Amino acid sequence: KDEDRKRILIGMSNTGGGHKASAEAIQAAFQERYGNKYEIFIVDLWKEHTPPPFNAMPDTYSFLVKNAFLWRFTYEVTNPKLIHVPYLSTVANFVSRGVNEALDKYRPHLVVSVHPLMQHIPIRVMTDRIRSGTMSPTNFATVVTDFTTCHNTWFCPDATRCFVPTEFCRQLAISNGMAPGQLVMHGLPIRPSFSRPLPARPALRRSLGMAASLPAVLLVGGGEGMGALEDTVEQLDKRLGDKCQVVVICGRNRRLQERLRARPQGPGHVVLHVCGFVDNIHEWMGACDAIITKAGPGTIAEALISGLPILLNGNVPCQEEGNIPYVLENRVGAFETRPDRIAAIISSWLLEGGEEQRAEFAAMGKRAKALGRPKAVYQIVDDLAALADEPDFQFGPAAAAALVGGQRSGAP
Ligand code: UDP
Repeated sequence: KDEDRKRILIGMSNTGGGHKASAEAIQAAFQERYGNKYEIFIVDLWKEHTPPPFNAMPDTYSFLVKNAFLWRFTYEVTNPKLIHVPYLSTVANFVSRGVNEALDKYRPHLVVSVHPLMQHIPIRVMTDRIRSGTMSPTNFATVVTDFTTCHNTWFCPDATRCFVPTEFCRQLAISNGMAPGQLVMHGLPIRPSFSRPLPARPALRRSLGMAASLPAVLLVGGGEGMGALEDTVEQLDKRLGDKCQVVVICGRNRRLQERLRARPQGPGHVVLHVCGFVDNIHEWMGACDAIITKAGPGTIAEALISGLPILLNGNVPCQEEGNIPYVLENRVGAFETRPDRIAAIISSWLLEGGEEQRAEFAAMGKRAKALGRPKAVYQIVDDLAALADEPDFQFGPAAAAALVGGQRSGAP
């Protein structure tokens, strides 16, 4: 019966593509692992459950993030706890009605956030409801979908659990006042299709219409097809010519797709495969030898699982900055923004490099594979299932609701 199913509310917001992708990965893994035992609702809390101007936040983000200065300013100004905690409490006065509506509508047994602005306010609303007896004790979990450097609003000490992908994020959570016992580190939640075995590479290339034996490089710019992708194709064409094939995934960038399709093809030119938004990126990654991408957390985590050396060609300011040293320090790739130099690196990886360089290239791929966390999404889902089944009175809204005069009652 539907009434017997445990309900899980995943709060996300469409700022960039990554939060939605993570929410969907969690939903898919729940389905695979538990069938219909849990009912998962993915809700854009900001857009669907807050009044203007707060419901414009996703659009404001799309605007701000395209302007490095404005985004850095917004990010840095709100990063200190002394600023964002009072700021969010003020915002709460305006938006908590919407959060209450969502809680009434979905009556969740667990609330999960995959967004940096969805901790403090929902937890406060839930705590008030538990304290007043209008909600039974319910856990709140954060699944951080940034990889390294990330905004401090991800970390609220009153969350029950916080799932962090890397040691860097774990330390950041601790410096924001979270206890080690609240933190779990499995990795980023990546779609289950990345953890299933793929056909052997020749069969995969055949099914994707790729040349069987030419070295192949994958070029991606996140869900929106961001970055100097066209110039990079131009330089790869100049430098590698028909000795290489290039797959460009343009995401939702239609104009880029059209321009690339109009490029000259044939002898002397790189063999070009131009795609729009694809849902089989795991197959393209499995079929290619290396990837060129902006420093998006989702794409990096997926490339690691696929064992691909990663050439980073740029990043969104602030939250993607730390992903560059992560790739370099773990020796799984390189960072270069100039398209001509990008082409030179790809050429040294795939074509012109000597024996030593080839060995290093192969070693990068092996290290990438070893760092990848294909099982993380299942481990996260198992832990979330447990949190939906049992309230935790040590951490989270239930524990906060039991706070009497600043002391945790009943907690050790
Ligand atoms: N993606 C996809 N199909 C496409 C382009 C991108 O499935 O055609 C996925 C990609 O696999 C990744 C996500 O979109 O999971 C992009 O996330 P990332 O964190 O790299 O960058 P964002 O777009 O969120 O800035």
